[in-house]
Amino acid sequence: MDWAVGVDIGGTKIEAALVDEGGAVQGLHREATRADLGPAAVLERLRTCIQAALDRAPGPVRAVGIGFAGQVDASTGVVYYAPNLPGWRDVPLKAELEGALGLPVFVLNDVHAAAWAERTYGAGQDWDDLVCVFVGTGVGGGVILGGRLQTGASGSLGEVGHMPIVADGRACRCGGRGCLEAYVGGWAVAEQVRQDIRDHPAAWGGVGPLETFTAETLADLCRRGHPRAREWSARLGRYLGIGMVGVVNVLNPRGLILGGGVLQGFPEWTEVVAATIRELALPSAARTVEVRRAGLGRHGGLVGAAAWARLQIRSGLSRPA
Ligand SMILES: [Zn+2]
Repeated sequence: MDWAVGVDIGGTKIEAALVDEGGAVQGLHREATRADLGPAAVLERLRTCIQAALDRAPGPVRAVGIGFAGQVDASTGVVYYAPNLPGWRDVPLKAELEGALGLPVFVLNDVHAAAWAERTYGAGQDWDDLVCVFVGTGVGGGVILGGRLQTGASGSLGEVGHMPIVADGRACRCGGRGCLEAYVGGWAVAEQVRQDIRDHPAAWGGVGPLETFTAETLADLCRRGHPRAREWSARLGRYLGIGMVGVVNVLNPRGLILGGGVLQGFPEWTEVVAATIRELALPSAARTVEVRRAGLGRHGGLVGAAAWARLQIRSGLSRPA
């Protein structure tokens, strides 16, 4: 048995673990990112976290794979930009870590890593053409065509959350308007429903303080059968469905996998999306696509990064610094 280290790094935490060839995770180590301290300090914490995982390895470790919450050139391992990590512009992450660790390191976008995990170990194992969409606070996606992860000309392929679905619609965090994320992203769900509670308090009854009302609160109310909450869930699921019609028409995937924290709270959205595709997508594309829930949990990102690193080694793409 040999091992790879998989890493998931975002604006709040870094997680590193040993991942075996079957995708099993062992020796998980977690650190706060402390993104406020800047790239040099974060790099040091990242190195410490990876070293902690390496120290627990029961056998040889072949490579390190890093799923990074930002725009990454997966071929060079350079981080172009990370919205939640101040100062990260054109950081040669792969070269820096290979120098420090003496192991081959591969870097890819964290959502792409999670999509690759679904293809390798999760709900997409039997498909070569699939799209994974993760609905959490933000909305992101990963696209695999012909069995290959697609990263685009500059690493941002699959940003389905910032696909406009309403002309001149709600303002989005990206600076655009009418983006899918501005309707179904966790932050947007909370914003819209809080406004509805302000406008129609009688329809909601006493649902508690507005400041703490989140997408999770809405999901809770749905589970308890609250009529207005259920209406909102149906409306938001429809927005997601409309977005997915566009994705299915453009990419003609065999599989569409839906995951992420917000989606978990609204399991009914999977069927709403499938029904909207049957109703509105091009018949040829609608006929072949199957919609499934994601099969992997919250370690999908680091598991996918490790699997990606193994693939690069096998393909002879290892280029130690
Ligand atoms: Zn946007």
